[in-house]
Amino acid sequence: MSDTSPDDFRSAARATAELVCDYLDAVPERPVWQPMDPAERTALLAAPLPAEGRPLAELLEVIGTRVMPAPMGNGHPRFFGWVNSAPAPAGILATLAAAAMNPSSAGGDHADVHLERAVVRWIAELVGFPHSPGGGILTSGTSMATVLCLAAARNRAARLAGYDLREQGLSCLPPLVGYTTAETHSCVRKAVELLGLGSRNLRTVATDPAGRLDLDALRAAVAEDRTAGRLPFLVVASAGTVGTGAVDPFEPIADLCADEQLWLHVDGAYGAFGALDPAIAHRYAGMDRADSLALDPHKWLGVPVDCGCALVRHTEELRGTFSLVPSYLRDESAGELGWFSEYGMEQTRPFRSLKVWATIAHRGRAGIAADIARCTALARRLGELVEADEQLELLAPVETSIVAFRYRPEAADEQLADRVNRELPVAVQLRGRAFVTGALHQGREMLRACLLNAATTEDDLAVLLDEVRLAGAELTGRPFGPRAESGGPEAARNPDGDINRQVTGDS
Ligand SMILES: *Cc1c(COP(=O)(O)O)cnc(C)c1O
Repeated sequence: MSDTSPDDFRSAARATAELVCDYLDAVPERPVWQPMDPAERTALLAAPLPAEGRPLAELLEVIGTRVMPAPMGNGHPRFFGWVNSAPAPAGILATLAAAAMNPSSAGGDHADVHLERAVVRWIAELVGFPHSPGGGILTSGTSMATVLCLAAARNRAARLAGYDLREQGLSCLPPLVGYTTAETHSCVRKAVELLGLGSRNLRTVATDPAGRLDLDALRAAVAEDRTAGRLPFLVVASAGTVGTGAVDPFEPIADLCADEQLWLHVDGAYGAFGALDPAIAHRYAGMDRADSLALDPHKWLGVPVDCGCALVRHTEELRGTFSLVPSYLRDESAGELGWFSEYGMEQTRPFRSLKVWATIAHRGRAGIAADIARCTALARRLGELVEADEQLELLAPVETSIVAFRYRPEAADEQLADRVNRELPVAVQLRGRAFVTGALHQGREMLRACLLNAATTEDDLAVLLDEVRLAGAELTGRPFGPRAESGGPEAARNPDGDINRQVTGDS
């Protein structure tokens, strides 16, 4: 702020507030998404390093005219892509206040640290997970939370086998084997690879037709690995898969994990907060028996990105995995629970808890539960609309708030259907009235609509399906081939069209 007078800052801050409000007011009237104008894109990409500074007012002008006109599209009530929510209003404001304070939430006696302890407890309470002080930490997202939880699982497995993995490393152990399904999010495999366990030691257990882990298959796989001298240590179950929103049967999985001394990790990134909806709460029975739960306040809660959370049943599993306090960090004021940096990888840590606090405090438990129930009800409604439409096909039961479906071209030709559904998401996106993404489900191309925005209406659902039918008809009426030859709108307007495609399993 050295060259900025307090008055300049105050007036720029007021202008920022106006800019943000104008932007948010206009969102519902805009196309959900549109490709960037090539010149605008290049202007951002090729921006030269400024040799001299510019006044705040000029920067705001650039933000308002060059940046904010090209949003991703989440925030619009007809954005149904991946798992990206609209920002909660209270979270937007808290983000600015947190930046003004700019602490490092690593430890010590300042508000941000105590607030993080509190909101981690709130998050656990919201989803019904047992909590003792220190039993969790905010992270950049579930990918990082998964690394933390699986590292703790790995260390416990070594300890049970009589080794200290932190000191001895992995080579002292037989192969540690984990169990997932084909629906498990890719961040689990990335964590397993990063932790040196090897993806070949990650089993893909069969699922039932709804995409839920098959318990008999799990039991058989564990027995086979034990017989072969390997060391089963981990089961990853999903509280809402990214493809279809399926919830694994936690109760019997937890029984098996207890019998076999396996760490049960639940990936609740997208769906854990679904437990707040009385209509589907029964699906989550047994989630509270997990050893760890990773979830994302930056998804269904609408906390502005980034904010994930790792929760563990036993505080010492996390602290025992990551605690390392060099002398320059000794600090009595950190209190009994010590530093947050003892519970994860980050040392300097952002003030994430204020936006979580604000988001939850603004709506309260009841408001959040109502928003979530609205999304699941809309998703079930969308499922009904799909089922009632002979041009469309529902691919999985609607368990949470993701609807997995497919466009049916007139000719009953599976290959044609796959090609059309593969191209449909981008075709719909380019039309600008709705945004949906695709994925592979049990080998078939599909569309998946994820409902996270309580401002979405039934009319918006109708628009989405209209757009899918229109784009589907357009796609089936034209020859297929390389985009450059067909000269479709994507080729002309969106040379980077691939960035809009979902790679299966990611969000
Ligand atoms: C989004 C998501 C993840 C990854 O979480 P990030 O916050 O993106 O790191 C993992 N699992 C599921 C089911 C998800 O939806």
